[in-house]
Parts: sequence; C-alpha cells; structure tokens
Amino acid sequence: MSIRLSVVVPCYNEGDNLEKLCNELQSALDPILSKQWELILVDDGSKDHTAAKIRSLAAHKPYIHGLIFSRNFGKESAMLAGITASHGDRIVIMDGDLQHPPSLIPEMYQRMTETGCGQVIAKRNRKGDGFVRTLFSKLYYRLVNALTDVVFEDGAGDFRMLSRPAVDALLQLGEDNRFSKGLFVWIGFPTETIEYENVSREAGQSAWTPAKLINYAVDGVVSFNVKPLRIVIYIGGLTVFLAFLYVLFLIGQWAIYGISVPGYITTIAVLVGLSGIQFLALGVIGEYVGRIYKETKQRPHYIVAIDTQYDPQKGAAAL
Ligand code: UDP
Ligand code: MG
Repeated sequence: MSIRLSVVVPCYNEGDNLEKLCNELQSALDPILSKQWELILVDDGSKDHTAAKIRSLAAHKPYIHGLIFSRNFGKESAMLAGITASHGDRIVIMDGDLQHPPSLIPEMYQRMTETGCGQVIAKRNRKGDGFVRTLFSKLYYRLVNALTDVVFEDGAGDFRMLSRPAVDALLQLGEDNRFSKGLFVWIGFPTETIEYENVSREAGQSAWTPAKLINYAVDGVVSFNVKPLRIVIYIGGLTVFLAFLYVLFLIGQWAIYGISVPGYITTIAVLVGLSGIQFLALGVIGEYVGRIYKETKQRPHYIVAIDTQYDPQKGAAAL
C-alpha cells in the first residue's frame, strides 16, 4: 500500500502529549487519507517516559513507526532521522507538544494538491508569547536577515508540508551542522503559507533555555554565509585607517609644538580597543574553523538505539 503522507514528530520529554497527538492526528487524517499515512515518532533521548510510550503506541497502532535515539542529539537530528525514515509522497514536520495543531494538516494537504507547490508553511502569530521572547525574536530576525543571504520569516518555523521532490532535495544537504529554518529556504520550491493562531504548550516544558536560543541565533548567522568574516575585515580596515589618521595628527602636532609626553589614556585605549577587536576576529574565525573541523569528522547525525519496526520487545512493550 502506498503511503501518501508521513508525519514526522521529534520528541523530547513529550510522554504526556503523545497519546493526544496520535488521537488528534487520527481524527484529522483518517477522513482524508483513510489508512494511507504513517506517523514517525522520534525520541530524542528523552528523560521521561517518551521512549516507552512510543514503543507501546507503535505496538498498538500499525501506522506508527518509532525511532529511539541512544541519547539526546537535538531537534535537528531528530527531524532528520524522521524525514530519512519517511516513505510518504509528502511529509509533514510538526512538534510533539500540540503547539502545531493537527487539524491544520488537511488544509495544508489540500493547498498542496491545488497549487502543486513544493512546500506549505503553517505560520503562527506570536499571540500569548512572552514580551521578552517576542522582542528578542523580532530583533533576531532583523539581525539574521541583515547578515544572511536567505530570508527567514518570523513565525514560519518547522511546521510545514514538503513534497517528495522537496524532501529529496533536503536530504541531499548532508552538512553536519543542520539549521533547518535556513535549509528549508535554501532548497527553494514554490511555497504557500497558511496562517494560524498561536497555541500554548500542552504539557511539559519548552526545551529552550536562553543559552540555547543564543546558540541558535549564532548558528543561523554562521551556517548560511561568511558575512561575519567580511565584517571583521571591514572593522580591521577601519581601525587601520583611523590609526593612520591619528598618526598624521601626531606628526602634525610634533611639527607645530615639538615633542610632548604622549597621553597615558590614549595608549591604554588603543591597547584595549585593538586587543578587543583581535579577540573578536579570532572568535569569528574560530567559529568557522570549528565548523570545518566538525564537518571533516563526518560523524553520523544521530544513533538509533531502537527501531520499533524491529523492536524485539514489541509484544512486551504493549503490556
Ligand atoms: N525537541 C527535540 N529535541 C530537543 C529539544 C526539543 O526533539 O533537544 C522537540 C520537542 O519535543 C518538540 C519540538 O522539538 O516536539 C519543539 O521543542 P519545544 O516545544 O521545546 O520548542 P518551542 O516550541 O518552545 O520552540
Ligand atoms: Mg513547543
């Protein structure tokens, strides 16, 4: 039987949400696709009962395929694992915390059928998000869009439908440091957008800490081009130019007033300023070198410890 749609869900500590997610998906998808869809649940090394839950769900429901990672590899890796395992003519990527309403999928499906586009994005507004988070998100998109060549859209996250050709394109991008938000934009294809109201998380906690968000922001900029390196070159050039002007000024002063004792403050300012710029430049270069190092190791993106299709405990897990 051919599968018309694969739903891919990365799960980290989503044990309490999965049952509801399955039910909602079933009531949204069974009417339009009957049994020709599959659900791929990827447990990203959760600390709660997510893995057990996925195994028991997979044992009960034939349309569920579970992958259990050997440890936490991050959402990007979990999505990649799910996409790689998918068989559908189309896929949907969504979060496991019910912030991405399954009831939108039929509309996305229909939109893709009507337009023949390669991607349908479900875009949320930011209602109900904290003020600080909204502010930072806005600033983030400003910054990233100024610094990169691909344009990221606020609210357009990972909740989207991709056609098989778009999935194949995505899987061709084998980089180690995956930044999906950018990869989706990079592969192109005609793209349609559906808007929906923001929903709060059902159970559990968002895995985003401020530190993770900052890392994510840096990733967004550095993954997509080498503009920061160029900016460092400009800063360096500007500094040299200013230094040159200052030397001219000193020579002029010397010519007119003769030698005077040079300023202590100037010396310190130059010392501190220049070493600051040097550290900054080293940091930027280091960021890229680090990425090259990671890429050259060619490690797998994730390790699957249990694949429910071959789960030796299939019967036991169901108990
Ligand atoms: N997630 C994951 N691995 C992680 C962190 C998160 O697979 O290390 C999953 C998580 O289970 C959820 C999705 O990624 O399905 C989005 O995570 P979260 O809800 O914490 O992010 P937010 O909605 O706050 O952006
Ligand atoms: Mg969430």
